[in-house]
Amino acid sequence: MASRSKHKGNKGRTRPRIPRAKYVFVTGGVVSSLGKGITSASLGLLLKERGYRVTILKADPYLNVDPGTMSPFQHGEVYVTDDGAETDLDLGHYERFIDVSMSKLNNVTSGQIYERVIQKERDGAYLGGTVQVIPHVTDEIIARICELASTKEKPQFVITEVGGTVGDIESLPFLEAFRQFFLLAGARNVLFVHVTLLPYIAAADEVKTKPTQHSVYRLREIGLQPNVIVARTEKPIEQDVRDKIALFCNVSAGDVFAAKDAASIYEVPLNLEKEGLADNVLKKMGMRAQPPELHAWRSRVNHILSPSKRVTVAIVGKYVGLQDAYKSINEAFIHAGAELDLHVDTRWIDAELVEQDGPAAHLSEVHGLLIPGGFGVRGSEGKVEAVRYARENGLPYFGICLGLQMAVVEFARTVAGLKNANSSEFRPRTRHPVIALMPGQRAVAQKGGTMRLGSWSCHLQRGTKAFEAYGSELIYERHRHRYEFNNAYREPLENAGMVFSGVNPDEGLVEMAEVKGHPWFVCCQFHPELKSRLTRAHPLFLKFVESSYNEKLRRNS
Ligand code: GLN
Repeated sequence: MASRSKHKGNKGRTRPRIPRAKYVFVTGGVVSSLGKGITSASLGLLLKERGYRVTILKADPYLNVDPGTMSPFQHGEVYVTDDGAETDLDLGHYERFIDVSMSKLNNVTSGQIYERVIQKERDGAYLGGTVQVIPHVTDEIIARICELASTKEKPQFVITEVGGTVGDIESLPFLEAFRQFFLLAGARNVLFVHVTLLPYIAAADEVKTKPTQHSVYRLREIGLQPNVIVARTEKPIEQDVRDKIALFCNVSAGDVFAAKDAASIYEVPLNLEKEGLADNVLKKMGMRAQPPELHAWRSRVNHILSPSKRVTVAIVGKYVGLQDAYKSINEAFIHAGAELDLHVDTRWIDAELVEQDGPAAHLSEVHGLLIPGGFGVRGSEGKVEAVRYARENGLPYFGICLGLQMAVVEFARTVAGLKNANSSEFRPRTRHPVIALMPGQRAVAQKGGTMRLGSWSCHLQRGTKAFEAYGSELIYERHRHRYEFNNAYREPLENAGMVFSGVNPDEGLVEMAEVKGHPWFVCCQFHPELKSRLTRAHPLFLKFVESSYNEKLRRNS
């Protein structure tokens, strides 16, 4: 029951009721990019495959309300959920590992927390009180964890990963909220996992535990004692290293788990299972431990590690220097490859280089071309040229979001004879705006959360490549874009040989397009990569990779 405190400084506070669940908090120490997200997702998988209902919350300490307004160079990919939230890319890992659809409740930022607190203050909810980080901000953080724990899926485990590194100023309110959560939920229901780095010093031929000790000191200073330490390491660690960490960090040696560098992120849960992480967590939390079902996962990992075939595809885009910008695309290729027992070499090409050198210089050796999502005019003509090369040379082509839009522009110009056709994003006064804003979008000035976002239905036409891939007439896929195919050009393009194989049944929006008579030229306005899973590769990625491999065989025969 929510009850109001009578204390003067506690005006407007509601004491949260903690939903019945087990709560695991994952913090990171020493450096960033340690694989905290993969560790959280791996633990989630190991619990889920033991039959538990699991969900994961990413707590991001930055002040943006969501990463939707950040450049991919700043933040990497924006991961879109079914309900249209623009979230941290770690949610992609969570979905790919635990295969549970995330929602806006699975990502909380300081921006959202402060937005809520300030809104309440303006509404007079704290009238008379001084609004402070403790307790008001920490209360909101606790409330967000409880909100996720109360969803209809009734998770038995709520894993909360906090972004950043222990010692950062901006993550302090989150860590303080976790400390309070421990008091509210009780020791048996709360567990702290600290992910840290053991650097290897070649000159001494030793892994060093000192940075780990220091980061645990920082945690203890703010009242948090980790129960479990996951130590990222390049080299296997011996018992004496585990003993040393245990002694200085106040845990037992059995609570120190090695996360050795792995060739594939999908190997990490298998390695942590060997180390006994999940059983340790379950035992500490008084939950039944049983062996997990990892058969399918393991067999896919074996294909990733030792594939019997290879194929090369080119990806022409804008943010090619930064792997994180297209994280889900990379992963979707790994999933498709694992299913087909084939390694997909992805060759990332800057669209501006295609403009400079011509498409053949970059594409003559590859077996398929993908153009992914993107924003802004820079490099767009290079993309159009790359599409033309693929269309004219029978090179398998997969266009995603902007990749569909560029394919439509190319087809309109070259095949349908619509000179200078363009997207109005790139040329607002173009004579033939084959890609344009929908009327409802034109008046939108605010940037955050204003695109077409989240899951939309799409009806597929039988007899098309799209239908062949999905094997079903009604599909749901996730969107993130402002511009759309302009239906005023549907007829001329159809007459020229473009097939609009997928359409949203409610609004009549074109969601998929293909080119007749080409071995495989399929585009989608949505982002299929967001729904690909290791044990359920996405059908469009599967078909694209398969067609690219066929192209390779054809050339070699
Ligand atoms: N810039 C295009 C649009 O807003 C494409 C977006 C994307 O590829 N995600 O419609």
